[in-house]
Amino acid sequence: MVITMKPGATEEQIQAVCSTIEEYGLDTLLMPGSVMAIGIPSAIPADVREPLAQKLQILPGVSQVTHVSRSYKLASREFHPASTVVNVRGVHIGGTDFVVMAGPCSIEGYEQLSEAAKEVRAAGALVLRGGAFKPRTSPYSFQGLAVEGLKIMRQVADEVGILTVSEVMSPDLVETVAEYVDILQIGARSMQNLPLLIEAGKSGKPVLLKRGPAATIDEFLLAAEYILSNGNSNVMLCERGLVSFDRSYTRNLLDLAAVQVLKDHSHLPVIVDPSHGVGVAKYIPAMSCAALVAGADGLLIEVHPDPRRAMSDAAQTLDTKTFAELMESLRRLGPFSKRSICEQAIAV
Ligand code: PEP
Ligand code: MN
Repeated sequence: MVITMKPGATEEQIQAVCSTIEEYGLDTLLMPGSVMAIGIPSAIPADVREPLAQKLQILPGVSQVTHVSRSYKLASREFHPASTVVNVRGVHIGGTDFVVMAGPCSIEGYEQLSEAAKEVRAAGALVLRGGAFKPRTSPYSFQGLAVEGLKIMRQVADEVGILTVSEVMSPDLVETVAEYVDILQIGARSMQNLPLLIEAGKSGKPVLLKRGPAATIDEFLLAAEYILSNGNSNVMLCERGLVSFDRSYTRNLLDLAAVQVLKDHSHLPVIVDPSHGVGVAKYIPAMSCAALVAGADGLLIEVHPDPRRAMSDAAQTLDTKTFAELMESLRRLGPFSKRSICEQAIAV
């Protein structure tokens, strides 16, 4: 349930609404905006819903009482009509800017990451991606450089002037990863790792939550709800493809319709990862452009100075030249979408 106050509602009127809700043993959440809104994030017992709504509706200063019909509450647009803009050290994701995150699948060493960072930054990316903890399908594949990789990433990012995103795989590593990177990535395989979601919620750090390979929209938004309900409103959703019946030509089935669906039913920013979504480098530029036009707020793309030598996900990784050309195409397409490619400088 969301209670929207009239413009200019007083502190006392807001307080009276909160006290009325709390008398029923329910928690309140203040959501300031152009007008104040007060949310009840948890489920309200059926026998309480109507009497409570009636009481609230007649309180002074109340404009409207809205029931949130979805199972996810804080993530829903009913609950929070304005789009959320996540501020990552001055870069705004979820508003009119289109923010590109790019870099290798895995951090392999200083030279590789430094070259990748310089190239993607020069081409217009604002966030450097790179995994230090890699969730590989086989335990015998390269597992990442762990904290050593994060240290390299921090150094490179400070030298180049770029933000960072890297995956955290377990709850006990949230604090460590959050020390080094600007955005915590929760991987597709971890989307329903509930202790991890809770810990990421408590950290307050911006989170890029990837959709599980077989997750429904409801499951995806309920995973986001775990982070939001643990006190972190800086959540970005990432569509990265679903398992499909035909894996002969593409790795996953990139669900671009999900961009519109998520923007419709949720206020959270939506990022598209065409690299994992498609899995084939030559299809990535077209799918990136499609994501921009489909209404995404940004992209997450795998780029390596020498993709043939990439230690993971080589087949879906762009070289730096192709990435720079893609950025040009995105700039040209900007006027056909509601976004413009964000080019701002990053303060280090
Ligand atoms: C990645 O971004 O490198 C990754 C492992 O992605 P996903 O979790 O979507 O498979
Ligand atoms: Mn990868």
